[in-house]
Amino acid sequence: MQDVFSAQGKRVLDRLASQGGSLFAFDFDGTLARIVQDRHAAGLTESTRQALHDLAIVAPTAIISGRSLADLSPRVKGISAHLIGNHGLEGLHASERVMQQAQDCCRAWLNAVTKDDRELTRAGVVVEDKMYSLTFHYRQAWSPAAARETIFHVVSTLLPAPRLVLGKAVVNAIPSGNLHKGTAMLELMHQLQTSAALYVGDDDTDEDVFSLPDERIVSVRVGKKAATAAQWYLTRQSQIGQLLQYLTGARARAVSA
Ligand SMILES: [Mg+2]
Repeated sequence: MQDVFSAQGKRVLDRLASQGGSLFAFDFDGTLARIVQDRHAAGLTESTRQALHDLAIVAPTAIISGRSLADLSPRVKGISAHLIGNHGLEGLHASERVMQQAQDCCRAWLNAVTKDDRELTRAGVVVEDKMYSLTFHYRQAWSPAAARETIFHVVSTLLPAPRLVLGKAVVNAIPSGNLHKGTAMLELMHQLQTSAALYVGDDDTDEDVFSLPDERIVSVRVGKKAATAAQWYLTRQSQIGQLLQYLTGARARAVSA
């Protein structure tokens, strides 16, 4: 794993930007937006918003988030990026039938969870209904370990069994199937007919993109970590604006060259 702002990293970014049509895709929470205690308050800083807006004008840009589209869209209003929600399930490639199945599945889980939610409430867990997936939040729990254990107990009773993806103070229950951020990324590249792409993310759900056996994708993780399939890292989330600006600049240099 290497710093994306190293000389070699910048060469890779320059090459990507020089190819017209390269796709630039980003996760939202922890990548474009700083992780905050209250998830409702997450948003782009003014400079990140401007930098993302500028990049989206000169190159195909996408945001692939675990949030639902209804939640994500207003947070990135005015930016002409492709939006994909619910960990890749929403906004792109799933047929109506698959979406309906996911919705039915989530409703059944939610019924089961809310029928007896005292255990979760006592542990300080908040359940978020994202229509096509459920997220169990425990950022505000007094004991994160106990909260996580309670969540695992509850989700182990759900039928059909969900695919679990762990995140920062969250457990995501996703209808099992073959759709995730990785398949969404590939589908978007296919639809846009791009031959190269950048993906930046910070969490376990982003490993679905990082671990794609696809050499066209340059993967960047926010935060250096040993156990990741990403090739590059961005040291801190606060550098995301700098990365966006670098890409826009590199694109401009390539066009004027
Ligand atoms: Mg994230």
